Amino acid sequence: MTKEEIEELFRFLKASYPTYDFNADMISYWANELSQYSFEDVKLSLKHCLANDKYTNRPPQLEVIIFKLPKIKQKIDFTKITYFCRNCRKPFNNLDDCHKHEDRCSSILYIERKSKKYNWDFNDQIKEELYQYSEENFENFYSNFLKTVKKATSLEWERKLINNIFNPPEKEEALKFLQN
Ligand SMILES: [Zn+2]
Repeated sequence: MTKEEIEELFRFLKASYPTYDFNADMISYWANELSQYSFEDVKLSLKHCLANDKYTNRPPQLEVIIFKLPKIKQKIDFTKITYFCRNCRKPFNNLDDCHKHEDRCSSILYIERKSKKYNWDFNDQIKEELYQYSEENFENFYSNFLKTVKKATSLEWERKLINNIFNPPEKEEALKFLQN
């Protein structure tokens, strides 16, 4: 979605809520969060929200508007250089995007393995949602998940490993840890 389209959404909100105000910061925040959604999808979802009594006096939050909205399928041009995620083989034309995805993908696979091991809730829907989380939300989720694993595990090395993620050791200590 383009900035112009975001501005149109805000004008639409302003028409529905005369006291509603928006600024450049909000536009760039929305533009960032909505970059992978289609304007038509978001506008339709917004209209559905506005038809709900809940939003007679206040506009729905962005998270509510995009909840369950599909992201635009990434178009891959296989005639260009294509990078593949080492975990799931998802293709990318941009190396940065691929690396970003690969990090997320590895963490999600870890979550999946541990959830199965400890019989914690995990299914395809949860998995898909984890891929859709914003970076900040995912980081929060993942650090809480690691803390939960730390409590659950009976393995000393795993506890140490998780500790090291939260409090990276000095170089010397790290070497000692690796040699043990
Ligand atoms: Zn992947």
